[in-house]
Amino acid sequence: MKKDYDLIVVGAGPAGMTAGMYGVRSGLETLVVEKGICGGLSNEAPEIENYPGFKKVGGMELAEKMKAQVSEYVEIKELEEVKKIELGEKEMMVITENDSYLTKAVIISTGTKHRRLGVKGEDEFLGRGISYCATCDGFFFRDKPVIVVGGGDSAVREALYLKNIGCEVMLIHRREKLRAERYLQKTLEKAGVHILWNSVVKEIKGDKTVRSIVRYDKEREIEDELLVEGVFMSIGEEPVNELAVQMEIKMDKNGYIITDKSQRTNLERAYAAGDITGGVKQVVVACAEGAIAATSAYNDLLELS
Ligand code: NAP
Repeated sequence: MKKDYDLIVVGAGPAGMTAGMYGVRSGLETLVVEKGICGGLSNEAPEIENYPGFKKVGGMELAEKMKAQVSEYVEIKELEEVKKIELGEKEMMVITENDSYLTKAVIISTGTKHRRLGVKGEDEFLGRGISYCATCDGFFFRDKPVIVVGGGDSAVREALYLKNIGCEVMLIHRREKLRAERYLQKTLEKAGVHILWNSVVKEIKGDKTVRSIVRYDKEREIEDELLVEGVFMSIGEEPVNELAVQMEIKMDKNGYIITDKSQRTNLERAYAAGDITGGVKQVVVACAEGAIAATSAYNDLLELS
């Protein structure tokens, strides 16, 4: 017979996995559903150096370790996308592409997706020289000229990773100052990565694969063409908030779910955790929010019973 759940967690990044583990440990019948594989965007982090207990760990390795631990407690359904959540009076129906599950509470931990630049050539050369993940694709560009677009933590980390595996790396940033944390900026400087300041990518050109980018130098007001074989986009993220929109959960002006300190949303028995709530997007924060969300669900369901 099909099981009903107390708690369903949508998304199995660090927040969702932690929420699943805390849910089961507090005694809730819990299920985690993930449209891709466990880990979310943290899988793409070349190195994580600020997750306590690990001096340096690859994002994928950390996600795998989390999955191994969490799976001892909770069932995780990977490669199953949640399409809709229907709200009933006491229960909710979580409808996925191949099943539906009844639950009393949900945690939305759907994370973020890569922001796109929106320039000519971006769609055409995606996967043929354009990548959003250096750890996934960097290997193909060893000894080749590549450019990283962006000025945040991710862009700097991607640039450092590419440099370390032997690519000829440039970084292009639209301002004269990086947003990345100071420590990363210093490491980038030490690594000798050339930075094109006050510059934007206007177009990506190529034949079968990327051959060059057209750069606009905002200070000098000139355009030039730079020969590169790889373009690594790292210009930030956007919330994956389709379910929140559909459920009419309150979001801020950037589309991130608004929660209180207990990770409660404006909807009863609907919680959010991790990058989908915006704020400090770090694995350690996502895990903490996942734990809090599951604990709040437990407390609220206890009061109902
Ligand atoms: P981010 O911090 O939002 O940085 C995005 C970068 O892309 C900014 O430098 C931004 O420029 C630039 N940008 C945005 N839109 C652009 C456009 N249309 N054209 C050109 N440039 C554009 O994003 P992120 O680096 O992906 O980081 C996301 C979050 O994860 C952050 O909270 C970050 O701290 C965290 N994170 C942390 C680490 C870590 O090691 N601690 C690693 C990765 C990510 P402006 O600076 O001009 O706005």
